[in-house]
Amino acid sequence: MGVRRGPLLRPRYPSLENQDRRDEFLLFAYFVMKPYSYCPVCGGSLVERLIGAELRRACVRGKCDYVCWNNPIPVVAAIVELDGKIVLARNATWPVGLFSMITGFLDAQELPEQALAREVKEELGLAVLEHKFLGHYLYPAANQVLMAYWARAIGPVRISTELAEVKLVTRPEFAAYDFGPLFVAAKVAKEWTLTWPMTERS
Ligand SMILES: [Zn+2]
Repeated sequence: MGVRRGPLLRPRYPSLENQDRRDEFLLFAYFVMKPYSYCPVCGGSLVERLIGAELRRACVRGKCDYVCWNNPIPVVAAIVELDGKIVLARNATWPVGLFSMITGFLDAQELPEQALAREVKEELGLAVLEHKFLGHYLYPAANQVLMAYWARAIGPVRISTELAEVKLVTRPEFAAYDFGPLFVAAKVAKEWTLTWPMTERS
């Protein structure tokens, strides 16, 4: 995951043994941005206001028409395959044992495919040779829309400081991989795995 500038809630790491605590931890530790407390345009307070049929956070100052529409954040997610193995990465802020695919935010004026190649280069040091779009996936808890890709890459792995470690798994290992509380990653992985020939799954 690319580093998103801005305030993040950072609770203590709960035990990953407990599913509820894991979900809570992931929802609040890494992905959910603190909502704005003040209007980013004029600095006025934001208050809940009924706009259309929805309660929105809007600027309290009458002359300012700022409304927080809470539009979802696009994120690219990449299943990276290197020399026939799939790269799983642990974010530097994640607890030991938690791995996922490569994800990142788009830069301004950047197409998803460009972000895919850039993130794979930045986070793993690898060049993307070819890619295939897998689908869109909603991640409501983080208000994100994931654009998932498979990407075949080459090069020596050189991980960025955003990552703590990577591991390479075979296709059967990937097909059986437990993503724990990362249920969107698990969904992307499962649906991609189902497109494989049966011989590659086990
Ligand atoms: Zn305002």
